Amino acid sequence: MPNLSFAPTDHLFVLTGAGVSAESGLSTFRDSGGLWDNYRIEDVATPDAWHRDPHLVWHFYSKRRRAAAAAKPNPAHLALAALERSLADRFFLCTQNVDNLHEKAGSQRIHHMHGELFKSRCDSCSRPPFQDTSLYEPPAGLPRCTCGGKIRPHICWFGEIPFGLDRIFAALDRCTLFVAIGTSGTVEPAASFAAHAKRHARTIYVGPEPPSNQFLFDEIFLGKAGELLPTLLALGNI
Ligand SMILES: [Zn+2]
Repeated sequence: MPNLSFAPTDHLFVLTGAGVSAESGLSTFRDSGGLWDNYRIEDVATPDAWHRDPHLVWHFYSKRRRAAAAAKPNPAHLALAALERSLADRFFLCTQNVDNLHEKAGSQRIHHMHGELFKSRCDSCSRPPFQDTSLYEPPAGLPRCTCGGKIRPHICWFGEIPFGLDRIFAALDRCTLFVAIGTSGTVEPAASFAAHAKRHARTIYVGPEPPSNQFLFDEIFLGKAGELLPTLLALGNI
C-alpha cells in the first residue's frame, strides 16, 4: 500500500467531493445525472425553483437533512480529521459536500464551498446563516424570518456563486501539497483548483476513477477513499 510523505513545512489543501459522501451512503445530483430521488435539479436546486415553489424545495431539503442526520462518517472522513489534529493550521479542508460528515468525524478547519445542509438563511435580509436541523415538510408551513422574508436552505444552488472563493484561493496560494478526493473534476470552479495549485504544489488525486482533469495531477491513487486514505495519510508518514 502506498503512502504520502509530508515535510514538516508542508501546507496541505484537501478538496473533497461527492465520492467521499457516497461512501457513507449519501449521493448528490452531481453524481446522479441530475435526477435524484425523482427530483430534477431545475425543480428544487436553482433560484428559479425557489421562487416558483419553495414548499417543494423545502420538502426536498428536509429529506436530505433526514438522510444526512442518519449517515455516519467513513474511514476517509476520520483519516482527514486525524491528520488535521496533527497539522493544525497547516491543514485546510475545502468540501463540495453539504452534509456534516466531516464535522461528525471531528474536522474543524473546514470550508463548505457549496453551503451547509444544516444551516438556513433569510432570502431577503442580511441576517447571517444559522444552524437549523428542522424539517419543513407538509403540513408544516414555510419558515419565515422576523423581517418577513422567507428562510431558505444555506445551499449554493446551480447558477449561484460558491461561498468563500477568496478564502479558498488564499489557501491554495499557501499550499505545498494539494489532494483532491472523490471529486469528478468536471464541476467548476473546483475543477480549476488543481491547476491553480499545480504552479507551486505537488498535486494528488484519490478516488475510484480517474478524474476528467487527471492531467493536472502528479500522482493518482485509484480506489475507495475510505480504503486508501487511512494508509495514505497515516500520521507516521508525516
Ligand atoms: Zn430576514
